[in-house]
Amino acid sequence: MLKIGPRGEAGPGVASATTLIVTRRATFAAAHVLRRGDWSEQRNREVFGACAGEHGHNYTLEVSVTGPVDAATGMVINLKELDRAIRSAVVDQVDHRHLNRDVLFLDGVIPTAENLALAFWSQIDANLEGARLERLKLVESENNSVEIRR
Ligand SMILES: [Zn+2]
Repeated sequence: MLKIGPRGEAGPGVASATTLIVTRRATFAAAHVLRRGDWSEQRNREVFGACAGEHGHNYTLEVSVTGPVDAATGMVINLKELDRAIRSAVVDQVDHRHLNRDVLFLDGVIPTAENLALAFWSQIDANLEGARLERLKLVESENNSVEIRR
C-alpha cells in the first residue's frame, strides 16, 4: 500500500522501492505496402495478402516507461517529456507519410507491424531520458497489434 505524505508526496522509502509503469498513447496515419521486389507478384500476394497492395492505417502507439516516483514531482516521468520523445522520435516522421518511401529510419524495411514496432523501439529508446523504456505496443487495426517488452 502506497503511503502518501502530508503534502502529497510518497512516503519515505516507498517511492524509491516501488517501480511504476507509465503509459503514453499517440496516434498517426500512414500508408504502406507489404511486398518484396525480389518476389513475384503471385508470391507477394500469397504471403502478404491484401497488404501487398497500397493502403493505409490509423495506427495507435502505446509507449510505457518505468522508474521510481520522483518525490518532488510525484511523477515517474513528466508526460510532456514522454510525449515530446515519442513525437520527435517517431510520430513527426511517420504521420501522413508513406512508410516504404518517406521515412529515413525505415529505409529498406518491410513495414510490417513487427518491423515498425522494432524500429520505433530503437528510435524512442535513443531519445528517452529520465526513465526506462519498458514496453511498446503498436496497434495497426482493430484486429492486429504487436507488443515488445524489454
Ligand atoms: Zn497494412
